[in-house]
Amino acid sequence: MTETQPLLTAPSSAPAGTRLLYRCAVAAPLLSLLDYLPPKDASGDAPNRPLLLGTRVSAPLGNRLVTAVVVEVIDSSSPQQDVINPEKLRAIDSVIDTEPLLDSVHLSLLSWATRYYLHPPGEVFVLGLSPRERRGEPPAPTGKQGVKLNERGLGLPPGALSRAKKQAALLTALQERPHSIDELNSQGLSRTIVRALAAKDLIEYCTLKNTEAWSCNDPLKPTQEQRTVINAINADQAGFICHLIEGITGSGKTEVYLQCAAEIINQGRQVLILLPEIGLTPQMLTRFQARFNAPVVMLHSGLSDGERDRHWAMARDGSAAIILGTRSAVFAPVANLGMIIVDEEHDQSFHQQDGLRYSARDVAVKRAQLHNCPIVLGSATPSLESLSNVEIGKYTLHALTERAGGASIPRKAVVDVRGLSLEAGLSQPLLSAMQATLTSGKQVLLFLNRRGFAPTLLCHDCGWFAGCDHCDARLAVHRKPAELRCHHCNSKKFLPRSCPSCQSGRLVSAGLGTEQSELTLKRLFPAFPVLRVDSDSMTGRNAMDDFAQRLSTGEPCIILGTQMLTKGHHFPAVTLVGVVDADGLLFSPDFRGEERLLQLLTQVGGRAGRGKDAGSVIIQTHYPDHPLIQAVMERSYGELARNLLAERRQRALPPLGAMAMLRCDSVDFTNGLNFLTQIKNQLQLAPGVQVIGPVPAAMARRAGRYRAQLLLLSEDRRALHNAASQLAWVADKTKKRSDIKWFMDVDPVEAV
Ligand code: ADP
Ligand code: ZN
Ligand code: ZN
Repeated sequence: MTETQPLLTAPSSAPAGTRLLYRCAVAAPLLSLLDYLPPKDASGDAPNRPLLLGTRVSAPLGNRLVTAVVVEVIDSSSPQQDVINPEKLRAIDSVIDTEPLLDSVHLSLLSWATRYYLHPPGEVFVLGLSPRERRGEPPAPTGKQGVKLNERGLGLPPGALSRAKKQAALLTALQERPHSIDELNSQGLSRTIVRALAAKDLIEYCTLKNTEAWSCNDPLKPTQEQRTVINAINADQAGFICHLIEGITGSGKTEVYLQCAAEIINQGRQVLILLPEIGLTPQMLTRFQARFNAPVVMLHSGLSDGERDRHWAMARDGSAAIILGTRSAVFAPVANLGMIIVDEEHDQSFHQQDGLRYSARDVAVKRAQLHNCPIVLGSATPSLESLSNVEIGKYTLHALTERAGGASIPRKAVVDVRGLSLEAGLSQPLLSAMQATLTSGKQVLLFLNRRGFAPTLLCHDCGWFAGCDHCDARLAVHRKPAELRCHHCNSKKFLPRSCPSCQSGRLVSAGLGTEQSELTLKRLFPAFPVLRVDSDSMTGRNAMDDFAQRLSTGEPCIILGTQMLTKGHHFPAVTLVGVVDADGLLFSPDFRGEERLLQLLTQVGGRAGRGKDAGSVIIQTHYPDHPLIQAVMERSYGELARNLLAERRQRALPPLGAMAMLRCDSVDFTNGLNFLTQIKNQLQLAPGVQVIGPVPAAMARRAGRYRAQLLLLSEDRRALHNAASQLAWVADKTKKRSDIKWFMDVDPVEAV
């Protein structure tokens, strides 16, 4: 085995008959692909047919066998190849697939991700495989389970088995053609009857391909604005083009996606739709299923491995028309991709924060480019990255400025809570507005971005507070179950009865979380249900379904929730939105803080009045004069975002400057910093690239490990990328203690 530097080499192939070697992505944390000799066949000879790219093999690594993907075939006798010592290479042990699981475009995408994000290829290529494929098993069967006559059954005359009526009916149906189990069930022929005939050895189980033609149901009549956007997108479906739809909440972006997708589906091509984590609600699935008479599959972490395997295989073999998924679905194989859609493209959940740190939106754009197909990004609050791409002419902008379906734009008001008495954080003006809304039969949505009962436990006598033993963070108080919990590392502690420092019994919980707010709201509004939506209350597979079900009754209620509420949900009966505490969002050390706050407030506000009744938004703050609060009240997101973009340009910050980080964590703080310093000292940076650090991360200690980083900045993306690549290779070669871990973070989202 020899290490090569495939991150820096272009894919190549060799003519048959030369000394072929296979470059494989091996599931191991190595920065390079590994070279292997061809497998030996039974007679000990190398097979004369070369392996296909994108197939899986079983290959030796150390003293074990691992699953690997063949990424390149190279000719070792060619002088251009940097194969050091072919004699020392080991041979592939066995071949798993006869057909490739990853096609050439997919291989290019994964190679690109490896190079762009400077991540071990073995960990990138597995992202293209389903759970069972990663285990070396064959892809899941697609199609429906069905039954057909076996050899004996085919020999029976019509009208046989006339005494057992149901069995005779089943036989008659199968004499016509094979049927799926579902189809038979709908004709009153149960599985029991099927089993009975199978027991008589007359029929056998089989898998049926879905052969129904895809079609679409009638769309809504588009508004003038929608029509313009749909026409513009549908006008050119042949090649790569990136559309950005900047459409206020409720402007009917989803209807635009549906009508653009319909064009593609009608041509028999597939559409990949990426949604933020929590946006993948049953609502969205229902809307797509209702519109298309074609298989719609989901891909997200809430599925069982079996479902994931089957949906993955259906995307790959072309039997799924629409693939709706969260970020990791951007790596799903799609046989005949015609379009990609990314809804809420600004959403943070498109960023993967461990393993390969990638932006699913950016990968999606690259994928569309490689497939040479259109991509549609949509948001009410587009990211500055996308707005900047519009400015430089890379993306085409489309605007939807009016609400579809006759809804009007909500009114906004700020309540200055300084000096006001608050009940569970709610001021009198907000409480009165809630009362009025509920008694008029409408729903109220309250946004409070803190889960648990209270964020802190304090000693009233000595000022002690409960901190996490593993993080630089305070423990939150939870009531159900009663405990202290760290929201960063999830460690838990008993709730103390008295202060561990001064033994005083006067421990108080400070601040307000959703759990506490829920209790107070139930007391204040006993006549109305309070539905809490946060990651503690929304556990279990059906929690979100049940919640949507209760909302759809349209009964007056109070919905209280965290960030989970802000994404893509459609709440037609909500007419009042209250932001309980905007202050927690105002002061962020991250340069993206302002952008996030604007997005959040606009998105939360956008949940109001999406039905036919006008809505209003009430924002509570202690800082009514803060420029951001003022800005949100007076101007549109679009205008503010463009101002922020101008600021970023002046400061050469992303998206107008490029950024990459080498992050490191260690058991001992000094060891981590020393490791980074050692790396920094070996760098030979091109002019125009700045290196900052090593500096501790914003939360220096997390889950018991100390975190520090080196930051690279440049106005020139290419120069930055070369520097980042150098950084990764130097880090890889630098000797380190085993308790130090490092990884690259290209285009980091947390810049502190
Ligand atoms: P967005 O995705 O921009 O938030 P949606 O597509 O969810 O907006 O549309 C908001 C509401 O308006 C939905 O109830 C939708 O059914 C309705 N709607 C969208 N387009 C139309 C249209 N052309 N005619 C009537 N109702 C529409
Ligand atoms: Zn104390
Ligand atoms: Zn912790």
